[in-house]
Amino acid sequence: MKSDGNSIYRTATMTDQQIDKRMHKARKKHQCCKCQTPIEKGTLYTKTVGTFDGYFISSTWHKECHVDHVLYVQERERGSFWWEH
Ligand SMILES: [Zn+2]
Repeated sequence: MKSDGNSIYRTATMTDQQIDKRMHKARKKHQCCKCQTPIEKGTLYTKTVGTFDGYFISSTWHKECHVDHVLYVQERERGSFWWEH
């Protein structure tokens, strides 16, 4: 199975969860799933793997874009799930 880049697979899992998050140094050019611009070879990027709404999703992010995304999600969930953190 192709293990890099942005990919999406249908799964039987219906829970939404992040399975893995890692920092990688790009050995080739990737594309950021948030801003849709290239992640240049040699830069650090974030790779996440998780399930969402029945899909298995693998995404590559600029480090900064992923931080933005995490802050956005935390902001959105504040008030309903804050006690779980
Ligand atoms: Zn980006």
